[in-house]
Amino acid sequence: MKYTKQCPKCGSYDILYAKGSAESYGAGSNIMCGLTTYSAVDVDRYICCNCGYVEHFVRTGDIERLRKSKKIKQVE
Ligand SMILES: [Zn+2]
Repeated sequence: MKYTKQCPKCGSYDILYAKGSAESYGAGSNIMCGLTTYSAVDVDRYICCNCGYVEHFVRTGDIERLRKSKKIKQVE
């Protein structure tokens, strides 16, 4: 949805964008990779208004911070 502007599940183009924020702690719009909100990585969401499907994206610039976190593991 981020790139196509279309829902991959139902084909709708009625998509909302919710910018991730470290302030909204606990609301699912960030990933904690340390103990404080300063170490949170924002998660942007794209929501289909037709079927309710949601996609999540972290910003590619934050990937290294996630890699270095002891709380997050590589899938093997
Ligand atoms: Zn949809």
